[in-house]
Amino acid sequence: MNNRRDFLKTSLLATSALALPRLSQAAVALSGTVPGGVGARVVSTWDFGIPANQAAWTVLGKGGKPLDAVETGVLVPEADLHNHSVGRAGYPDRDGKVTLDASIMDGDGRCGAVAALEHIAHPIKVARKVMEDTPHVLLVGDGALEFALQEGFTKEDLLTPESAKAWHEWLKQAKYTPVANSENIDYHRSLQSLGMPGGKNNHDTIGMLAVDANGHLAGACTTSGMAWKLHGRVGDSPLIGAGLYVDNEVGGATSTGVGEEVIRNAGSFLVVELMRQGRSPQEACEEAVRRIVKKRPEATKDMQVGFLALRRDGECGAFAIQKGFTYAVCDAKQQDRLVASPSLYQTTYT
Ligand code: ASP
Repeated sequence: MNNRRDFLKTSLLATSALALPRLSQAAVALSGTVPGGVGARVVSTWDFGIPANQAAWTVLGKGGKPLDAVETGVLVPEADLHNHSVGRAGYPDRDGKVTLDASIMDGDGRCGAVAALEHIAHPIKVARKVMEDTPHVLLVGDGALEFALQEGFTKEDLLTPESAKAWHEWLKQAKYTPVANSENIDYHRSLQSLGMPGGKNNHDTIGMLAVDANGHLAGACTTSGMAWKLHGRVGDSPLIGAGLYVDNEVGGATSTGVGEEVIRNAGSFLVVELMRQGRSPQEACEEAVRRIVKKRPEATKDMQVGFLALRRDGECGAFAIQKGFTYAVCDAKQQDRLVASPSLYQTTYT
């Protein structure tokens, strides 16, 4: 009797195994903890990545999903009234309109994004709705707003008194020179010439990447883009492959800085593909920066672009054109580590 039962059990197992589609090698490699991996980790761009990472860690540290972690994390700078480059208090375009760009991507290839979205304080939440509630990837402008309102988001005026003041200062000269942060002296001069304070208050996009102990990844990227940009200008952040790319087979990458240069080179996709070919996260970011500079050496010499990459085993790396790019790293060992990224140029602001 026992033998018969055992035989039936074995046969059923054998049959169901035959009925299953054959797992690809990649899928096999993607199950279980990553050999030699550092475990769960969150990384994000700039100093404001520290509190953002800590929020993400409240999800990831408890074994939550990387996708939920990155969404939770970037809500922090989106809500921060002192942050003038992300979310609610972002500086407006040259017409005084605050327009926000955001994208979110799961390592399984699902993704959603919004661009040039007005009146919604948390574009990352709308990006996730685009991913989950529509067959599309990217909604822009009025259509994105209409969709957000249908989804129950509240329409708000996002221009804070402080942002309005900075815009009115800019209007005195109305010099159209979009700037991105670095410690490059010309950058600081250009900020000062625009009547902007310069330095740490003008950091740019938050790009965040998270991996769990099984090597499953997700990323989010959100920004108000370049201060005083042309109305309707869209940067790299909401463009999958430019400002953000994540693939569970390899890792993820995100970018900050002058979005046009990142778009020209499909920057984040390039970083992930270089890692797929065997480059370390650090080497991949360096190569992506070098390609950007090689394509337009003169134009990029005073510009900032930075890449941040996270491999599925938790190793991370970063590289920027100019000195001054920082990124935050958070894992079970330490939740508030800030790292200065290496850069191509070493110009120091004095
Ligand atoms: N990459 C963003 C953009 O071009 C802004 C930034 O990170 O500085 O919109």
